Amino acid sequence: MPKKRRNNGRNKNHKGHSDPIHCDNCERLCPKDKAIKRFLIKNMVDGSSKRDIEDMSVYKDENDNYQMPKLYIKNQYCVSCGIHARIVRVRSTVNRRIRYVSRYRKDQKGEMSKGLYRVANQKYPEKVIVKEEE
Ligand SMILES: [Zn+2]
Repeated sequence: MPKKRRNNGRNKNHKGHSDPIHCDNCERLCPKDKAIKRFLIKNMVDGSSKRDIEDMSVYKDENDNYQMPKLYIKNQYCVSCGIHARIVRVRSTVNRRIRYVSRYRKDQKGEMSKGLYRVANQKYPEKVIVKEEE
């Protein structure tokens, strides 16, 4: 029988077993290597509130740049929730071969803000993304 994915949708190479985790949305048990994981960094307050706080802040010295603390959240979803929430999408056989690497890098700051990811096995990521939209 043909295989849909080379890794069977998992990252369990020759491990045999991986610990189950609970989905953040529906609490379903899902193997850790199969779960859809997204690391979320967001500001605790929105832009206008942040400006108000900064205006009233004691640490207003221009020399020491006080940084507001951020929320660092790791989200883990089961496959059903990942697809339902459109974090991942069903892809065609050809597009399924494209690997996205979501590692954050400084030189790709602009690219990440557009919602694009670095593509691991493609030379020109822009062309690939255009192809996906068609
Ligand atoms: Zn779920």
